[in-house]
Amino acid sequence: MRMRKKKNSEKRIQACAAFLDWEAMFAKDRTVHLEIGCGKGDFICAKAKKFSEINFIAVEKITDVIVTAVEKAKGENLPNVRYFIADAKNLADFFKFGTISTIYLNFSDPWHKRYQHDKRLTSGKFLEVYKKILKPEAQIILKTDNKDFFDFSVKSFSGNGFAVQNKTYDLYNSEFFNPDENIQTEYEKNFAAQNIPICYLEAVWSIFSK
Ligand code: SAH
Repeated sequence: MRMRKKKNSEKRIQACAAFLDWEAMFAKDRTVHLEIGCGKGDFICAKAKKFSEINFIAVEKITDVIVTAVEKAKGENLPNVRYFIADAKNLADFFKFGTISTIYLNFSDPWHKRYQHDKRLTSGKFLEVYKKILKPEAQIILKTDNKDFFDFSVKSFSGNGFAVQNKTYDLYNSEFFNPDENIQTEYEKNFAAQNIPICYLEAVWSIFSK
């Protein structure tokens, strides 16, 4: 379909965002966990099956990627998963202040070049957005294969009011690893098959720290 370009469409959608009623979209009003950059959705589906008492929202900015995830969840009929096509930079427009208990950042794009570091999902700019939607003492759980992105994230969390804990450069050989609890993402399966170590951390946000 050919469409005439609309003026300010992003701003106009954001102006309606107050009407996004997440509670009503789930069967029950429960703790909400968010995955940002969910890819094809293996992780969120497995989490939702295992933790039926938690509501999960998977955010992805690319429609062609998330379509696989959406179809997967529909096929599995999971009442506690919802998908949301959005750029993480706009999340504060769509969620009420202090409503999310956990954010998962799984194998986020590392954006190698220095001038691209602002685009990293753990840059200060993004952490400011997450702080608006996280509950006090909520956490961000991060997994990556990329050490440079990992070290950058540690610094960024620490400099922006998050306490970094359970940090490891090799999750599978660490004291924090429990094979029965760990849920692999698509990227993780790939890296694990090649014995590439997985970096892992939990960043807890304290409303009182900054
Ligand atoms: N989490 C999946 C996919 C990792 S690839 C896995 O571990 O297998 C990173 C994903 O994040 C891509 O699908 C990309 O489109 C998405 N992404 C990158 N920047 C984003 C942003 N600003 N907002 C939402 N999604 C983003």
